Amino acid sequence: MIEIERLSKWYGDFQVLTDCTTRVARGEVVVVCGPSGSGKSTLIKCVNGLEPAQKGRITVESVDVTARGTDLTRLRSRIGMVFQHFELYPHMTVRENLCLAQQKVLGRSRDEAVAKAEALLERVGLSQHIDKHPGALSGGQQQRVAISRALAMDPVAMLFDEPTSALDPEMINEVLDVMVELAREGMTMMVVTHEMGFARKVADRVVFMDAGAIVEDRPTEEFFGSPSSDRARDFLSKIL
Ligand code: ATP
Ligand code: MG
Repeated sequence: MIEIERLSKWYGDFQVLTDCTTRVARGEVVVVCGPSGSGKSTLIKCVNGLEPAQKGRITVESVDVTARGTDLTRLRSRIGMVFQHFELYPHMTVRENLCLAQQKVLGRSRDEAVAKAEALLERVGLSQHIDKHPGALSGGQQQRVAISRALAMDPVAMLFDEPTSALDPEMINEVLDVMVELAREGMTMMVVTHEMGFARKVADRVVFMDAGAIVEDRPTEEFFGSPSSDRARDFLSKIL
C-alpha cells in the first residue's frame, strides 16, 4: 500500500532524512515515534507529496509519489491527512468544511456530499454541530471534524501527525477513540504520535526514528517488550 524505499531528503545542506525504508500494508496501522526533530513530520509529509525528497522512492497503491509528473492533487485527495492543528476553514460551517472537496475535487453532487457529511458526523457524535463554525467547537470536536473531513474523500490511507498533541488532556481520548475505531475498521494508517497507549492498543508495528533515520521498525509487542536500540530504550524511559 505505502512503500518507502531508501528515502533521503535534505533541506539545503542539512540532511533531514537518511535512507529511510518502511512499508505499510493494506489495513495495517504503523505508529511513528521518536524524539523532537528526528524527521517524523517530514517523513509523513513526503508520503503525500507535501515535501519532495531528493533520493529514494515512495509509492502509494503503486502510484509513484516521488516521480516527476505525478498528479499530486489527485494523489492527495486519496490520502487523508490530519495534522496537530486542525486546519479547518474557519469561515465555513462544519457542513461546508466536509462538503467542499467532495464537490470540487471528487465532483460529487451537493446531495451526495451532504449525505456523506451527515453520516460521518453522526459516527463521531457531532451531528448537532453541523451548522456551526469551527471556532465554536472545542479542540477535540474540531479534530474529529478534521478526521471526518478527510474520511469524506474515501481515502485509501490516513496519515496523522500528532493529532492529539495540541489538545487539552481531557479531549485527547475522544479523538483517539475515533482513531481506534478507524483502525479496527481496517483503515490503513500511518500515525505520528507519542500516545504509547494508542500504539500498544492498535499499532501493528512501531517505527522509531532518530536523527532522520529509522532506527527500529518492529511489531508493536516486540518494540515495547525489548527495544533493541539504546536510543529507543532511552526514548521510552522518558515518555512511559
Ligand atoms: P517534532 O517531534 O518536534 O514534531 P519531527 O520529528 O516531526 O519533530 P521534523 O519536523 O520532521 O521533525 O523536522 C526534522 C528536522 O528538520 C528538524 O531538525 C527541523 O528543524 C528540520 N526542518 C523541518 N522543516 C524544515 C524546513 N522547512 N527547512 C529547514 N529545516 C527544516
Ligand atoms: Mg513533527
